[in-house]
Amino acid sequence: MRWLLVSVALAAAGVCHAGWPEPRPIDAGRLAAAGLRVVEAEQATLVTDAPPSAETDRLPGLIALAAPRWAERFGVARSAAKKWRLRVYLIEDEARFRALGLWPDQSPDFQHGLSLGYEVWVRQQESDYYRRHLLLHEATHSFMATRLGSCGPGWYMEAMAELCGTHQYNEATGELRIASPPETREAAPDWGRVRLVRDAVASGRLLSVDAVRKIDNRRLLATEEYAWVWALASFLDGHPAYRERFARLPGWVNEPDFDSRFDRLYQRDRRRLEQEWRLYAATLCYGHDLPREAIDFRQGEPLAADGSAAATIAADRGWQSSGVAVEAGEPVQITAEGRYVIAHEPDGAPWPCEPGGVTLAYHAGRPLGELLATVDAGPGAFVDAAPVGRSAAYTAPASGTLYLRVNDAANALAENEGSLSAALRRGGGPAGRGARQSRVDR
Ligand SMILES: [Zn+2]
Repeated sequence: MRWLLVSVALAAAGVCHAGWPEPRPIDAGRLAAAGLRVVEAEQATLVTDAPPSAETDRLPGLIALAAPRWAERFGVARSAAKKWRLRVYLIEDEARFRALGLWPDQSPDFQHGLSLGYEVWVRQQESDYYRRHLLLHEATHSFMATRLGSCGPGWYMEAMAELCGTHQYNEATGELRIASPPETREAAPDWGRVRLVRDAVASGRLLSVDAVRKIDNRRLLATEEYAWVWALASFLDGHPAYRERFARLPGWVNEPDFDSRFDRLYQRDRRRLEQEWRLYAATLCYGHDLPREAIDFRQGEPLAADGSAAATIAADRGWQSSGVAVEAGEPVQITAEGRYVIAHEPDGAPWPCEPGGVTLAYHAGRPLGELLATVDAGPGAFVDAAPVGRSAAYTAPASGTLYLRVNDAANALAENEGSLSAALRRGGGPAGRGARQSRVDR
């Protein structure tokens, strides 16, 4: 998946990429004698030593299906995208390609795939999904390099290729959707990006947005680094608050200050973006529901000295503002009631739930549906939740707005129904212990 070192260096020096050479000439007779086949499709030519199969032979056809999607995303005229053609080498035995002069002269030691202008090389894979992913990944580099003139900085280049590599292909209808994350693990054998991010987070390596943007593809990247750039792209592309701005980035790939423009673009809500990004990375799963997990940011008002407040918390949404600002170390008594649906049986029967949660199922080590609390202070605010249940004194570790939600997976909110009511009042526990962690006294 590495690109050519030289072309990345040229991009940095501002040299235009429009002058990519045509794919090298091929001699069908010589290829056949060496055991290679040529499969022609509308917008791509496949050269391969893989035996004929329906899956292999439809690979070049995917390019014509993806081209209008790339055109839309990258602001390229449909007509120009329709004329675009790609050469694809699918490789089982590298020696055959080398002997025929079909190997890239520069950067000959790629791991899975390589893109050089109008040619891409993809090594054979066990899984149909992952083979298509790699082809779409490399082809995205090619489309950007030849149609936009650049792929932008390394992290963005790989992020877009990883994003457009995720796809849903319907064999029966021949429909292809790109930039569409797999809904289940079974739908994407060998892809594994979700697992890599989850494992990294579990080992205490949750990368900030800036850390992901420092991933530099001028060296060979580890698969985990591809997973991180994919996750960031999929977050920015799927989150209702950030996706419109993300869609503007392709217009800047030739700008040397691309990253400063990115910073300015997200300056006004960068703190929230970072908080939501960390929450996303920490709860990443197949079928992650970004629109429902999107935080309803609303700054809270302090409670009066003897005051109280009430909040309604929907069961089918992520973190929601309570409307109340709390002070570090000063407990707030939260009492919740209500009956809502937290899941369904396979036969459709609903699972009723109250703020204490159900004991039949757990999520993240706590009862499913249990009321949780946090305060919007610090980058990891929404990752560090405290259980509340029916009633508890919540002591915030830092001053900020109190947020509430029910405990559920980020891919399981859509099946929930109803809401709970939370009553908040000042006091309820021993104040002023100055705990670093949020504290709950039942
Ligand atoms: Zn790549």
